[in-house]
This record gives sequence, structure tokens and C-alpha cells, in this order.
Amino acid sequence: MDLISIVVPCFNEQESMPIFYNEINKIEKKMKDNANFEIIFVDDGSTDNTLQVARNLNKADKKVKYISFSRNFGKEAAMLAGLEKSKGDYVAIVDVDLQDPPSLLVDMYKGIVNDGYDCVATRRSTRKGESKIRSFFAKKFYSIINKLSKTEIVDGARDYRLMTRQMVNSILSLKEYNRFSKGIFSWVGFRTKWIEYENVERVAGNTSWSFWSLFLYALEGIIAFSTVPLAIASILGFALFILALIWVGFIIVKTLLWGDPVGGYPSMACLITFVGGIQLFCTGILGQYLSKVYLETKKRPIYLVKEEI
Ligand code: UDP
Ligand code: MG
Repeated sequence: MDLISIVVPCFNEQESMPIFYNEINKIEKKMKDNANFEIIFVDDGSTDNTLQVARNLNKADKKVKYISFSRNFGKEAAMLAGLEKSKGDYVAIVDVDLQDPPSLLVDMYKGIVNDGYDCVATRRSTRKGESKIRSFFAKKFYSIINKLSKTEIVDGARDYRLMTRQMVNSILSLKEYNRFSKGIFSWVGFRTKWIEYENVERVAGNTSWSFWSLFLYALEGIIAFSTVPLAIASILGFALFILALIWVGFIIVKTLLWGDPVGGYPSMACLITFVGGIQLFCTGILGQYLSKVYLETKKRPIYLVKEEI
């Protein structure tokens, strides 16, 4: 018998949790000849009754375990905590809002056990139900990060996946503070099979991602998996330097040939703002990396646990 750990990050999900629990139970019954489940709810500092719901589920069913954070640390931290506590031979990360259809677990398990993959991951083939602007920026993000980074980040990839213990341990060996799982999953390698499915809307509650928080998350991903922006800063600087040399030559020749009374205030103003802008932009890029290094060197814990069973 295999043990499959189901890691479920939850942030204010009191309505979704019981529905999710029922669904997962149905799937466990389907797989009962091959595997048992262990469900780990990670309460990411919810302000509603998520923790209470987890306690109740645990009382009623011992295969349900939970970890509760002292505050909201974000989904990345919740996934890490779940992976760290998981004991299964295989581990799945599943959203509690049923946007990750639990029924896929059956095929995912087969993909690993029968077809010899190390990981079966999912991606959305459509972005139905999502606003046009959000989809547009999501597409742009994937095209940019894949140009900048050697690690492939699959467009539309979800965190929903089933992995072998070996792959989970590899992921846990990455101790970085700024975690971007979509990159980490791909960085550790291993053979991954992709399953596609159409976007499903959440069963209850609301998404906790605003446009701004997604934007920051995207920046985090780029900085964590690429140093190309730093190179862009140096290349821009060098290009401007060459341009300036050519321009100096041009002005000297022009002055010697025709003489030149003072003039050119507008062009000067444009130049100053242009160069100033580029300088600030490049300093900004540096600052982004510096701030990440700063946080890494502090070695703060990625999450703090208040209660767990
Ligand atoms: N989540 C979390 N911590 C957070 C935000 C979200 O643990 O700070 C969980 C949330 O409960 C859900 C999953 O991460 O199970 C995905 O979040 P959500 O459905 O809000 O994101 P979306 O599906 O819209 O990308
Ligand atoms: Mg969701």
C-alpha cells in the first residue's frame, strides 16, 4: 500500500474545506486498492474559522492533519510547510477551492506508478472565467520570464501536481527564503508528465490574489530565476557610453568647422532626463536583487507554526 500525502494550503477557506474533504474522500475510495491518503491542511494565518474546521475534520478523521501558521505567510510558505511535514511515498499539492480537480489524482498516480514518471503536473489549457487584462499580463509574464531564464516556466502551469518522495526531498533541499515554486519544480528536474485541463472556477470564497500581489509575485519569479536584468543594466550603460563618445566627436568636429554659439537648452534638458531615467532604472534593478540578498542573509524562518497535529 502506498501513502499519498495531500498538501492543501488554505487561507480563509472555511466554506471550501468540507466540500474539498468530501471530494478527496471519493477519490480515496476509488484508489483504495493501491493507496491510502494523508490530508495536510495548512492554515495560512486565516482570519475566519479555517483552523476550527481543520480541528473538527481531524477529530472526525485521523487521516486529516493540520498545521496552523501564526499569521499569513503566503501560499509559497504554506506549500513548503506541507511538503516538510508530509510522510507519503507520493505527495500532491492541491488547492482547496476545487480549481484543481481531485479526480485527476487517479491518472496522476498511474502516470508515476505505471509510466515511470517522477512527477505528474497540471496546466490550464484555457483561462476561462479570468479577466482579459489578467490573462494578457499572465501571457506576457510567461514569455518574458522564459526569455530571461534558463529554467523553463510552463505557461498556465498550476502548483497542482503529484510527486515522488525523491523529488519532494530534492525540493526541500532548496533552502532559499524567496521561494518561487513554479521555478523550483522545474529547476530540480526529474521527468514530468503534463496533464491539461480547462480552467474551473472556485467552489466558494474569493481569490486572495489582487492584480498587484500577482505583479509582485511575477517580479519575484523573474528575480529568483534570472540575473539577466542585471546584465541589461550593464549593457544599457555601455551602449550609452559609446553613444556619448560618438556624440562628443560629432560636436567637436561641428564646432571646429562652423563654430557654435551657445544653444541647445531643450536638447540638454531631454538628455538629462533620459540619462537620469536610465540611471534610476538600473539602480532600481540593482536594488531589487539587493533586497532579495538582504532577506536571504537574515535567515528568517519562512513560516512560524502556532498549532499542529
Ligand atoms: N492561499 C494560501 N495563502 C495565501 C493565499 C492563498 O494558502 O496567502 C491558498 C488558497 O487558500 C488556495 C490556494 O492557495 O487553496 C490558491 O489560492 P487562490 O484560489 O486564492 O488563488 P487562484 O486560484 O485565484 O490563483
Ligand atoms: Mg483558486
